[in-house]
Amino acid sequence: MAALIDTAYAKTNRKRQPRASKSANRQLPKIDKIVGARSYIDAFDKLGIVSVTTLDGQIIHVNDEFMRISKYSRDELVGQTHRIVNSGFHRRAFFKGMHEKISKGEPWRAPIKNRARDGSFYWVDALVVPLKDRRGKNTAYLSFQFEITKAVETHIELQERTATLQGVMESFPGGISVFDRNLRLILCNDKVKNLVGYPDDLFSNGLPTFEQIVRSNAKRGEYGPGDIEALVAERMQRAAQAVPHQLERRRPNGTYLEIRGTPLTGGGFVTTYVDITERKKDQDTIARLAHHDALTGLPNRVLFQDRIRHALARVRRGDTLALHCLDLDRFKSVNDTLGHPVGDALLKAVAGRLQNVVRESDTVARLGGDEFAIIQVGPQSPADIEAVAKRVIAALAQPFKLGENIISIGTSIGITIAPDDGDNADQLMKNADLALYRTKSAGRGAFGYFEQELQSRQAQRHEIATGLQEALETDGFELHYQPTVNVQTRRVVGCEALIRWSHPQRGLVPASEFIPIAEEAGLINKIGDWVLKRACRDAKRWPENVWVAVNISAAQLRGHDLVDKVSDALGDMPASRLMLEITESLLVQDKETAKTVMDRLRAIGVRFALDDFGTGFSSLSYLQVFPFDKIKIDRSFMAPIGDQKRSAALRRAIVQLGHTLEMTTVAEGVETEEQFAQLANEGCVEAQGYLFSRPVPEIVVSNFFERKL
Ligand code: C2E
Ligand code: MG
Ligand code: MG
Repeated sequence: MAALIDTAYAKTNRKRQPRASKSANRQLPKIDKIVGARSYIDAFDKLGIVSVTTLDGQIIHVNDEFMRISKYSRDELVGQTHRIVNSGFHRRAFFKGMHEKISKGEPWRAPIKNRARDGSFYWVDALVVPLKDRRGKNTAYLSFQFEITKAVETHIELQERTATLQGVMESFPGGISVFDRNLRLILCNDKVKNLVGYPDDLFSNGLPTFEQIVRSNAKRGEYGPGDIEALVAERMQRAAQAVPHQLERRRPNGTYLEIRGTPLTGGGFVTTYVDITERKKDQDTIARLAHHDALTGLPNRVLFQDRIRHALARVRRGDTLALHCLDLDRFKSVNDTLGHPVGDALLKAVAGRLQNVVRESDTVARLGGDEFAIIQVGPQSPADIEAVAKRVIAALAQPFKLGENIISIGTSIGITIAPDDGDNADQLMKNADLALYRTKSAGRGAFGYFEQELQSRQAQRHEIATGLQEALETDGFELHYQPTVNVQTRRVVGCEALIRWSHPQRGLVPASEFIPIAEEAGLINKIGDWVLKRACRDAKRWPENVWVAVNISAAQLRGHDLVDKVSDALGDMPASRLMLEITESLLVQDKETAKTVMDRLRAIGVRFALDDFGTGFSSLSYLQVFPFDKIKIDRSFMAPIGDQKRSAALRRAIVQLGHTLEMTTVAEGVETEEQFAQLANEGCVEAQGYLFSRPVPEIVVSNFFERKL
């Protein structure tokens, strides 16, 4: 039996080997001999676990409950000490503390973890009371215990859970706080204090209540300006509603918090705080990028249209609005000649100047390329609008100094006004564009208003483009020829092919009325192909010394297949009999390509005439760079209007230039004998004009070859 007890004891207490109980055999005092013991035992017997030990700890009595819980029999317990149920859980000092207390005659109470005979553990709430004799001397100890295993386990589990919860809360990337149903803070992690900027004294009396926190926040300006009581009340009300909420708060220090409140089922709520300052910055950048032009920082088309819509909403309430659309004169050539970095710098500088000449309430936007626009809100009179347009023109007329380069550009402006010209953004933009287009074609560096008639002209253009498309499909074009004569002999040296559109209602339409539209509508390539083919076909029937001239548009020159098309059209006709006429304004646009294509055509023998010389940029350098054989002096130099002397002087200069550069000079638009006499006098080589013949059908022109005109 003793061995059995020893083993059991050894199991429960790993630290100390029990001494084999000598006292087990000793005569133990009888319970009834101990004063008061019996009455205690009887009183407590049915209430819990009862035991009585001698002063040196030997068990002399256990009740049934003790045995039931410890799973030892009475025989196994009596004579042993309580160490038999020692679980090893408590430190030695724990029991020492007890001994000190009870040996002094005082009761001792503590929860104890014990170990039953089968190795299972149980917790008791133990009260040890010294039993005393009449003189007050300790005679024995009575231990009365309640089993509290369940409660302790629950408590431990709860503690563990709380610890886990705290761990979770600390590992949460943001701040977190938990409020109970009475709106008291019961848990929070450390981060919350930094994120929300709680002052230390808020926590000096333990965890604060929700109201204390809110009040402190309101005072520190966390909720922005406003009446403290109102700010607090608003938040108290929201907390009481127990609905989930999410909000972004900009703190006084500029950081942003995302705050989510989630109600808990039993009342109270959890609030989380995440610092979203970086995310906000990114969002701002993205929003900026989406709505602003990256190069100039100005609003882009998207934001611009949005602003127009806003401004239009005000127009509907009686306000006014002017829309200025502008594009830069000569920007493309700056970009082409000085390169994109200079072009970019120029656009930035332009943006800066534009912003300086408008009011803060107006919007300057970059719509793309060299297109800018201004929304002028609330102009009171046309004078207000013109003032802005003039300021813009003046600002951009000033040369720009960009690094080494001094650049002069300039701008043209188209203006449209709401509500007069339109009440929606698209309409206004379209109208301003139309006005701009017209202003530009009238000359640069000016502004012009949209007029209703412009719009009908636009409609007309559309109609013409449709008609041209149809003419292409139904062989609706004719080619007329205007002879060119040698000034000395007045005999035909060549004919210029001029296209006519035989319109079902309008009859023969001259080229000047539809070629620009065909160019704009992208039909010129097809039309040009037809002209080339037809002109070469006709010329083959003519004497070999008569050339044919064909007018070429920019788009044709840009298409690299022009060389093949010309070869095709020529067939077996010598290339030298074909003259291609190009106006100089066309060369400005894409010099590189133009030069390449012209060089290749010239290599096969095709000749070139510079048409309408003197009207466009008249840069002499073109004559040097491009392989021209002929200069056609624009007919405006022939016209009997303007300064006659000046015209004559210019004509002579051009003729002289032709001599020097070994180019033939041709006078266009010769209408009278008088003009002709003058030309002959000035040394012009060839002449063309109504004096000799209007453009006529091929069948007519072929009659001119044999005689003087
Ligand atoms: P351009 O090449 O300068 O053609 C001369 C224009 O002046 C022709 O007008 C002609 O009819 C007109 N003209 C000729 N002699 C006189 C005159 O003595 N007095 C006056 N007042 N005018 C005269 P048209 O046929 O209307 O052609 C206008 C422009 O259209 C041409 O100017 C040319 O640039 C272009 N064009 C004509 N045909 C074609 C073509 O087949 N293809 C292309 N791409 N353009 C063409
Ligand atoms: Mg011509
Ligand atoms: Mg011409």
